[in-house]
Amino acid sequence: MNGPKNSDLHMHSTASDGGYTPAELMEKCKKADLEIISLTDHDSVEGIDEAIRVGNDLGLQVIPGIEFSTKYKGKSVHILGYQFDWNDQNLRALLANQKQLRRERLDTIIQRLEAVGLHIQAQDVLKHVDGGSIGRPHVAKALIAAGYVSDVAEAFERYLAEGKPCYVEKSQEMTVQEAIDWIHRTGGVAVVAHPDYYGVDHDLIDWVRNWGLDGIEVYHRDHDKDAVKRYEKLCDEIDKQLGITLLRTGGSDFHHEDYGRVPEPLGLTRLDNHFAEILLQRNKINK
Ligand code: AMP
Ligand code: FE
Ligand code: FE
Ligand code: ZN
Repeated sequence: MNGPKNSDLHMHSTASDGGYTPAELMEKCKKADLEIISLTDHDSVEGIDEAIRVGNDLGLQVIPGIEFSTKYKGKSVHILGYQFDWNDQNLRALLANQKQLRRERLDTIIQRLEAVGLHIQAQDVLKHVDGGSIGRPHVAKALIAAGYVSDVAEAFERYLAEGKPCYVEKSQEMTVQEAIDWIHRTGGVAVVAHPDYYGVDHDLIDWVRNWGLDGIEVYHRDHDKDAVKRYEKLCDEIDKQLGITLLRTGGSDFHHEDYGRVPEPLGLTRLDNHFAEILLQRNKINK
């Protein structure tokens, strides 16, 4: 596969914890010479209409996307959905409920911060939220503004990451199977995001076999060469064993230039168009 690498199927806007509005993000995609992109906000579809409108005006092909937060064996696992009906009323109701739960979780996080001597208020966090779903990165921004930490990475390392003193689980986490079901029910395809984060490689074949997972995000920005090779191989093995063709996807997981384990501008991590084109052809609505 040596086509043009002008696709990016994983990025976030202000509809969740990204730093740019969907319109600003599409402008950045255009400047980076991207052609096929997907906006995949955490538990939110609120940015999709704007991304499609502005993206199409700029000549981009925009795939509707979402990144669901789920729990699997006590670990936080993200499931990407593509090409689903983002206007589905039941899905909208589910996401509205999750948004409310995220708001309630914020109060608990603030109490935990209080308990270790960090004083911030809900408003300090909500200032950084643009109507979308509230996440820990928004809390990190408030901690930076209050002078308690110097950057987002430090906020997570000292307080907000899983296992740290102010980490708060979401009160009702979806299971991986539920997320896949929601995506299928609304006509989409489900892909496990950045699997190298979780250490559950041996379970992935069962997710495909038992729950109908459609693909693996092989080419994620935090996957080094070895991880990419490992997931390419795993996809080939699963395909062979089950007699199917998994989707291979990838993306930058761009939130902002300063964000991430290693910060990078939009357009650095690029996916071969070939993979995005295969995804475009695989729409469950037509099955
Ligand atoms: P939440 O949905 O509130 O649990 O927040 C999860 C989000 O926080 C992820 O999607 C990332 O954007 C961000 N995040 C998680 N871990 C880290 C970390 N160690 N450093 C920076 N950002 C992180
Ligand atoms: Fe995020
Ligand atoms: Fe993720
Ligand atoms: Zn993401």
